[in-house]
Amino acid sequence: MIHIAIDGPSGAGKSTVAKALAKELHFVYVDTGAMYRAVGLYTRRHGASPTDPEAVAALLPDVSVTLEYAEDGSQRVLLNGEDVSLAIRENEISQYASAVSKIPAVRAHLLTLQRDMARTHDLIMDGRDIGTVVLPDAALKIFMVARPEARARRRTLELLAKGQDVEYETILAEINARDEQDRTRAVSPAIPAEDAVMMDNSDMTVEENVEAIRVLMRERGLLGAS
Ligand code: C5P
Repeated sequence: MIHIAIDGPSGAGKSTVAKALAKELHFVYVDTGAMYRAVGLYTRRHGASPTDPEAVAALLPDVSVTLEYAEDGSQRVLLNGEDVSLAIRENEISQYASAVSKIPAVRAHLLTLQRDMARTHDLIMDGRDIGTVVLPDAALKIFMVARPEARARRRTLELLAKGQDVEYETILAEINARDEQDRTRAVSPAIPAEDAVMMDNSDMTVEENVEAIRVLMRERGLLGAS
């Protein structure tokens, strides 16, 4: 199986690029952030505090997160069978996801699902700890970064396009806070693996970014010679 790990902070364009490349290569795309968001959504719905490890851990036996792929390559996130693909993108759920992702029991719960998918599929997986923890033997690891202003701009446009009422300054402050929390947590902090390739895409188009990854794949013999 060929595994490609793409990690990096929020708004670095990981999912856009991973999705495009997976479609082209006929690989499965696994958005692990969506899984943490589903746990965050479940926590909010049950009125539990996302910063209370015991309360959140107690919910986990009742949380089943699955990713489903439609014919056209689009992905749906199911929480106990319910399609929550849209609900997990609410801005408030970002903070819930970041808070619950600090809890070791949550990470262990999702790690099993993530590794199970990798056992049976060629895939591109994006997240924060894919290269360091989930797929340490990935054939290619990329740590994608962009200037905070570029990331906040992309995130703001994405949320506005979904009809959410957000402001750039608020989003910038929120993603900086979330990234700091993700980077400095004790378990699986969002840091590059030693063997990750650093890629700053602040000034790249999506196609240039995809091509930069194709080049790395070709160099490693992971793509045909074409
Ligand atoms: O990538 P996305 O912004 O959807 O992720 C939501 C949150 O889930 C992140 O802020 C991070 O705290 C958490 N996460 C994580 N490990 C991953 C993927 C996401 O801790 N592999």
